[in-house]
Amino acid sequence: MDTTKDTAPPVTRETVTQKALRLYPERIVEPLGHGRYSVEGSGGHFYEVDLGIGGGHESCPCLATKPCYHISLATIHRAKAKAKARRAKAERTAARASRASLAASL
Ligand SMILES: [Zn+2]
Repeated sequence: MDTTKDTAPPVTRETVTQKALRLYPERIVEPLGHGRYSVEGSGGHFYEVDLGIGGGHESCPCLATKPCYHISLATIHRAKAKAKARRAKAERTAARASRASLAASL
């Protein structure tokens, strides 16, 4: 007898990371410096999230179980900003290299 057919489907619970990734495009995340971010929560509430950069712990003043999705939103924002900075730097390096090779070919 196959009992698997009788069991309820697994409850797919959205993780805080999944929730943060879903909400990221529509929420405001403002860097405040030193790993602190002003993060828009539900109902237009803003929370000051501290990612604990350079020691210390991640923190958010909301009442949710930690790590909450506000911390995830700040983490995503930081990762995207870093990736953007890396891309800009790579583009500058590539532009410099092509200028140098052009100069060398003259
Ligand atoms: Zn929070």
